[in-house]
Amino acid sequence: MTAAGAPQIPILCVRCGGPVEPREDLSFVCPFCGTADRLPASELDRALALKARIGAAARRRAQLTSTEVGLARIFESRAALLRVAAPWWIGALVLIGVMAIVRGEAPPVVLVLLVCGPLFLIGLSLVLAVVVGRAGYARSVRPHLFARAPLEPGRPCRCRVCSGDLPDERGPVILCRWCGTPSLVTPLIHANRARLLHEEQQSYFAVAQSAIEQSARIGVSMTRTFLVALLVIFAGGAGVLVAVAVALHG
Ligand SMILES: [Zn+2]
Ligand SMILES: [Zn+2]
Repeated sequence: MTAAGAPQIPILCVRCGGPVEPREDLSFVCPFCGTADRLPASELDRALALKARIGAAARRRAQLTSTEVGLARIFESRAALLRVAAPWWIGALVLIGVMAIVRGEAPPVVLVLLVCGPLFLIGLSLVLAVVVGRAGYARSVRPHLFARAPLEPGRPCRCRVCSGDLPDERGPVILCRWCGTPSLVTPLIHANRARLLHEEQQSYFAVAQSAIEQSARIGVSMTRTFLVALLVIFAGGAGVLVAVAVALHG
């Protein structure tokens, strides 16, 4: 569909959202939910159909706000702790140096504690704030941001929404070229590739299974409604017949 080597737009199953590989004739059977489907032959219709599927996948998954992506950019950086504290601690050291130069000798410990102590404590409080913030981020935001694992070793990680290959850029947050969703890419994903791929497959099976169960439930409720309606109609009809008979003979 695209020139060799060019990034390939992801093709998603309409039913479970799993990524699929169509055959030469553009038909495919989803490996996760078994849905048989065929992409439009016209290139324009096909592009529109694929875009619509990606849009549906993006709507299905909760989109994170730019604030949460901003948090990722801050907390994924190992230097975040140092960055918040360093200015205060360096300021304290500079002050000690200035006091030593002005006095011509090492300043007394009490003076150092009085002047530099607050600066050191401010730096320490900021470090604690970042540690607590990072724990909250790791618990509630980070798991939703992870990119999907590469299908093969050495390939790029994939978008967490549409499964498209992510551009070869420096992380940790990389925007998808197809749906614009930011995904978090870390070395952990490559290290746990096999397990993550397995979990991803299970999630498509789960979506497909819940769709089947929902269809079955709809079927059961339709049958029930039909039987009740039949009963009501027959009872009503019988009632009318009895009323007519009574009226004729009465
Ligand atoms: Zn499917
Ligand atoms: Zn995407």
